[in-house]
Amino acid sequence: MTSTQIEAVEGDITTQRVDAIVNAANSLLLGGGGVDGAIHAAAGPALLEECRALRAGRWHDGLPVGQAVATGAGDLPARWVIHTVGPNRHRGQTDPALLASCFSASLAVAQEVGARSVAFPAVSAGVYGWDAGQVATIAVETVRSWTTQESHGIQLVRFVLFGRPVFEAFQQELAD
Ligand code: ADP
Repeated sequence: MTSTQIEAVEGDITTQRVDAIVNAANSLLLGGGGVDGAIHAAAGPALLEECRALRAGRWHDGLPVGQAVATGAGDLPARWVIHTVGPNRHRGQTDPALLASCFSASLAVAQEVGARSVAFPAVSAGVYGWDAGQVATIAVETVRSWTTQESHGIQLVRFVLFGRPVFEAFQQELAD
């Protein structure tokens, strides 16, 4: 089993030179605001085409909260975008297991496609209303436990955080 480096950086996930970047998508998979909008804007129309194809097929009714699916990455430096749907606090989705599932399901998909490095944003810490500290706790705990329990080839997990406070929340969690 590969030992995994887990780190946090402050920055823009769209510019990361990693194998896969995770998108905090919504269930419809057709783009939106926040990091989803930034990823679609940077990836270009090829990503939207692939997302439309997913909606035309297996994910006709949308991707459920806590699940993950991979597409290509269009014009991005990454090879894959892994779309996951975080729980939306404003819709009463407050179960930490749903958020943990976003991270573990994304890692399982990364492993499936053969990614060796993966970047995550702070899923649900934006429009979906979760506290950044809580997201950091769940994200770090889930990634640590998945990477030590599962058999995989993922060498690097990088949290890419937008803004100082979110970055510091992850840094603090990683230091514990
Ligand atoms: P959600 O709907 O899951 O809450 P958002 O995109 O609204 O998703 O926010 C999730 C996190 O992603 C927030 O901390 C937001 O500041 C951050 N974010 C927005 N744009 C980017 C980007 N380009 N790179 C990394 N993180 C980003």
